[in-house]
Amino acid sequence: MAKIILTGDRPTGRLHLGHYVGSLRRRVELQNSGEFDKIFIMIADAQALTDNFDNPGKIRDNIIEVALDYLSAGLDPEKVNIFIQSEVTELTELTFYYMNLVTLSRLERNPTVKTEIQLRNFETSIPVGFLNYPISQASDITAFKATTVPVGEDQLPMIEQAREIVRKFNSTYGEVLVEPDALLPNNSVCSRLPGTDGKAKMSKSLGNCIYLSDTPEEVSKKVMSMFTDPNHLKVSDPGSLEGNTVFTYLDAFCKDEHFEKYCPDYKNLQEMKDHYQRGGLGDVKVKRLLINVLEDELAPIRARRAEYEKNIKGVYDILKKGTDAAKKEAAQTLSEVKAAMKINYFEDPSLLEGWQEKYNG
Ligand code: ATP
Ligand code: MG
Repeated sequence: MAKIILTGDRPTGRLHLGHYVGSLRRRVELQNSGEFDKIFIMIADAQALTDNFDNPGKIRDNIIEVALDYLSAGLDPEKVNIFIQSEVTELTELTFYYMNLVTLSRLERNPTVKTEIQLRNFETSIPVGFLNYPISQASDITAFKATTVPVGEDQLPMIEQAREIVRKFNSTYGEVLVEPDALLPNNSVCSRLPGTDGKAKMSKSLGNCIYLSDTPEEVSKKVMSMFTDPNHLKVSDPGSLEGNTVFTYLDAFCKDEHFEKYCPDYKNLQEMKDHYQRGGLGDVKVKRLLINVLEDELAPIRARRAEYEKNIKGVYDILKKGTDAAKKEAAQTLSEVKAAMKINYFEDPSLLEGWQEKYNG
């Protein structure tokens, strides 16, 4: 069976370190592994509209930001198709049919949807489109017959829902769809990177992000004001690693080589952690290391972005080409879905033959 990737992001803002460690960095590795037959990366504007329907300008503006972030992170338009969700209208059609396969109570039980409803104060009046977005996400995945979906942990309930829809569809109408697998980051810290404020998840909506396109000054300022251990007042005090965001970020980004380069007092992160816990290591030194480590990762991304920014028409053309390729693929699946559901009236010659036999003998 072909190995196919589908994944994406909502164009509700520029991409941040959470996206990077949760999914983007992995996509670039997978793209370069040569192991996948096709890779589709979706800018999920239609999904973003489910909770931003009254702010279409924001979504439109962020399409180009997300595209620039993708390319600057190293996604190669020769190897992946970057496309705009709403342009692939086949996805909406699939959603309409999948809606019959899911109950309202199943949607309401989806833990990610539950959390997001709370976050957006939708408790008393949930837009139908928002509640429905897990179904639309199942369409996105299955339209490309994706086998692999690289995502952060918050997306696991969505993949589970997509798998259920595939099973229900295939058992009702015949084997057409493919059950996808989520691909989580190897490092559990990266599955849900906390925000700079120490909150459970770095998220555009919470405003606690370090963006891939932040300047070195912005990164430095954000790290310096990051949440650490509130009881670690004097350098000599023993410090705690529990909920200490600076160390969490080091867990996500730091390699042994960084110590030789930036902090030769320690051989590796564990030695630094031990010293911090014993007491005698100040937050500023740890934060300086983190700034250097992040800069190692972000500087090449920033440089690539600057190049792509010089040729926005080129980026626009990449989106157009990726969208055309995605449309072709989704149309193929939709036609198989419609055939299985017996709603391919004008593509199936046996339909007319049957009708004629019944009425014209
Ligand atoms: P929004 O607040 O608009 O929902 P978001 O910051 O949650 O935005 P999404 O576009 O919903 O970002 O998520 C895109 C992808 O990035 C998903 O695969 C998600 O799991 C992953 N992701 C987002 N935030 C994090 C994070 N803090 N840690 C790890 N992965 C993340
Ligand atoms: Mg999200």
